[in-house]
Amino acid sequence: MNCHEAGIWLGAYADGHVGALRRYSIQRHLRACTGCAVKHQGLLALRARLRAEAPYFKAPPELRARLQARFADTRATTTLAARAQSPRARPDQWLWLSGGALAGCAASVLAWLVTTTVVNWRVNGDRAVEAVAIHSRAVLSDRLIQVASSDRHTVKPWLSARLDYSPPVRDLAAEGFTLIGSRLDTLREQQVATLVYRHRQHIIDVFVEPESTRSLPEPRSVRGFNVAAARGTGMDWLAVSDISPDVLTAFVQRLADEHSRPIPPE
Ligand SMILES: [Zn+2]
Repeated sequence: MNCHEAGIWLGAYADGHVGALRRYSIQRHLRACTGCAVKHQGLLALRARLRAEAPYFKAPPELRARLQARFADTRATTTLAARAQSPRARPDQWLWLSGGALAGCAASVLAWLVTTTVVNWRVNGDRAVEAVAIHSRAVLSDRLIQVASSDRHTVKPWLSARLDYSPPVRDLAAEGFTLIGSRLDTLREQQVATLVYRHRQHIIDVFVEPESTRSLPEPRSVRGFNVAAARGTGMDWLAVSDISPDVLTAFVQRLADEHSRPIPPE
C-alpha cells in the first residue's frame, strides 16, 4: 500500500469500517510512514474533539419528516430521469445508485454542518471567554480607561486616530448608561475599540469591531459575567458586564441599532 491508497482509506480505517486484510495493510503502512501516521492521529484527535465538544441537538420529528419527503422526491425524480435516458436500465439499480449518491451528499452536508457549527461555536465561545477575561482584568487593574471622557466627540477621534475603522460612539446617559471613556484591547489577536459605560455602580465593556460574516455569540454567562452581542451600523458589538442578561442584551441592541427604542428604566 502506498500513501495515495492509504489516504483514501484512512477515514474509513479510523472509523473501523475496513475489512481485516485492508486493516492489516494500513497498519503496516502506518508503522512505516510517519506522514500517514500523523494524518491518522489527526483524524483520531478530531473525532475525540467532536465527541467531547460538539453541542448535541436532537432533530425534531418535523425535520426528519421533511428530509424524508425531500429525499423521496429527489429519488423519484432521479429515477425517472435515469429511466428516460436509458430505458433498459434496471430500476432497482438506478434507485440504488441515486440513493447511494444522495447518502453521500447527505453525509457531506452533515459533515459540513457539524464542522461549521463546531467552528462557530468554538470561535464564539473563545471570543466570549476572552472578552470576559479582558473585562475582569480591566476592572481590577487601573487600565479600565485610556481616554476618560463622557463626550463622544472626544472619544471617537481618539479611537479613529488609533484604529483603521471608526466605531460609532453614543452616549446613552439619558437612559442610565453613561459613557465614561474608552480604551484599545486585543481580542482574538485583533485590535478592537472598547467603549466603557457605567450603569449605576456597574461597569459595561463594549468591544466594537467592523461587521464580520461569523455568527454572533449567543447571550451567555461566563465566570459570573454576562455576555451579549448585536450587529448593526456596520459593526459587531460584544458587551460584557455583571448587569442582568436582559438589560445587557437590550443595551447592546440599542448601541448597534440607533433606531431601536430607548431602554425602559428598571
Ligand atoms: Zn504514507
